[in-house]
Amino acid sequence: MTVDQLRSLIRDVPDFPKEGILFRDVTPLLLDPAGLNAAIEAVAEPFKQAKVDRVLGIEARGFIFGAPIAQALGAGFGLVRKAGKLPWESHSASYELEYGIDRVEMHVDTVEAGHRVLIVDDLIATGGTAAAAVELVRKAGGEMVGCSFLIELLALGGREKLDTEFHSVLTY
Ligand code: AMP
Repeated sequence: MTVDQLRSLIRDVPDFPKEGILFRDVTPLLLDPAGLNAAIEAVAEPFKQAKVDRVLGIEARGFIFGAPIAQALGAGFGLVRKAGKLPWESHSASYELEYGIDRVEMHVDTVEAGHRVLIVDDLIATGGTAAAAVELVRKAGGEMVGCSFLIELLALGGREKLDTEFHSVLTY
């Protein structure tokens, strides 16, 4: 499947969740067996030889792509969730939103000291969420291998916030 075929499976929804936001909806891609396969393969591809111990998926769509990527890389899969959702002792990192701040968390036993970690999400916009996830990995003593996304919104410059290997498949 070509990049343009993959791109054709992303639905653009204007003014969602609020006016002025162009939402990149991956649900048509998830419904397409070949598209789903190709997307997982493309997000994982640069990290196949990277000896990854843990793939972390960022809530919620990062879980969908992260788990099969962990399987493909022979790694364990860990959750990065919004504050207050995880039941066990957790590391926490905050990041700025347009108005106020938000927080992500990860169980303290998800990443062990020296683990090689890949962070995965469907989309990077400002990069705030992914940068907070990187902070969680470093708090746990993990070593960042990289961050990989299906979609990158170039105008928001998110990749500049990530001082680690960076990969995206579709850019807008
Ligand atoms: P950010 O922290 O700004 O990089 O935001 C990234 C998170 O917000 C990701 O988990 C995305 O799923 C979601 N997101 C942000 N902007 C969009 C958008 N235009 N379309 C779809 N999802 C988005």
